[in-house]
Amino acid sequence: MNPREDRSPGCLFCRIRDGEIPADIVYRRDGVLAFRDIDPRAPVHILVIPEKHISGLPEAEDSDRELLGRICRAAALIARRESIERSGYRLVVNSGPDAGQAVGHLHFHLLGGRGLGWPPG
Ligand code: AMP
Ligand code: ZN
Repeated sequence: MNPREDRSPGCLFCRIRDGEIPADIVYRRDGVLAFRDIDPRAPVHILVIPEKHISGLPEAEDSDRELLGRICRAAALIARRESIERSGYRLVVNSGPDAGQAVGHLHFHLLGGRGLGWPPG
């Protein structure tokens, strides 16, 4: 698969998007991609990302508003498919060092399938 023009060099999630690194993809539509986290912290742990490279939430622009909305709608649909809509789930963005952001491509963690403590540790 040809790398997309909006890829960021060396970005792990751009490489997953381009099929260079395998992933268990559960959703791809309208610029939104979702795949299972490689190190799941809950029975359901899925990362929902924009296909376009955005480094993080601070880098999202006004023109990304519709895309961000589609990500939230996709997360809700995936939660329904994963049968955690009724039991409940959490949609989380880690931004910056204090939140432990490790990958510089915006991603929303969809977590569910167990009781989730609040606030996160
Ligand atoms: P964050 O700490 O919010 O940046 O989250 C990055 C997430 O990416 C972590 O939960 C990792 O387990 C996950 N991750 C790292 N590499 C991969 C990969 N190759 N496939 C799927 N998930 C990954
Ligand atoms: Zn990227």
